[in-house]
Amino acid sequence: MGGTFDPIHHGHLVAASEVASEFELDEVIFVPTGQPWQKAERDVTAPEHRYLLTVIATAANPRFTVSRVDIDRGGPTFTIDTLRDFRHHYPEADLFFITGADAMAQIMSWKDVDELWELAHFVSVTRPGYVSEDFGRTDHISLMEIPAMAISSTDCRERVRDGKPVWYLVPDGVVQYIGKHRLYQDLSSADESSV
Ligand code: ATP
Ligand code: MG
Repeated sequence: MGGTFDPIHHGHLVAASEVASEFELDEVIFVPTGQPWQKAERDVTAPEHRYLLTVIATAANPRFTVSRVDIDRGGPTFTIDTLRDFRHHYPEADLFFITGADAMAQIMSWKDVDELWELAHFVSVTRPGYVSEDFGRTDHISLMEIPAMAISSTDCRERVRDGKPVWYLVPDGVVQYIGKHRLYQDLSSADESSV
């Protein structure tokens, strides 16, 4: 499951847990994205913070792990590179790529999607506020309805900045890590913070 995870929240964790159960996955690997070279729409928090937040949030689940491949590759993350790396590391594995409905729609808009289908089966989960597109008859994508969690990282960041609580939207350890490192206090300088 790829994501910016800035920060990781219970919507991500429920999606991973539901897909793991439905598809009887041995493991869910959370893959925080690399840091974009150039500033995109907003400054993304330093990769090490996002990596550690993801480790904290997933530590208690024996089937959840975190990969650094996209962070260590550097630069913006393309799903095709993530999947090629995983295919290389796990040549025998059945790979599934878990996304929310919004991310799946973006992936479908790329021009070289055919190569993706050879690398993994895609599972697109429902997400409040986004329409789950019907991609027609395809063996490459499964649509899955999951319990609706109207949570986004954007909303969590804005809540912290505005002094509102994020308790119960993110795991307790994530609340504590955000407080300890004073993340999201000033959203424009989030990427300047260091561990
Ligand atoms: P941001 O607001 O910064 O974009 P986000 O909440 O969308 O953050 P991402 O890290 O962008 O989180 O998302 C990673 C993956 O998790 C994407 O595939 C996204 O669609 C999915 N996802 C995020 N939140 C939910 C949710 N509440 N329910 C289902 N899927 C989700
Ligand atoms: Mg998002």
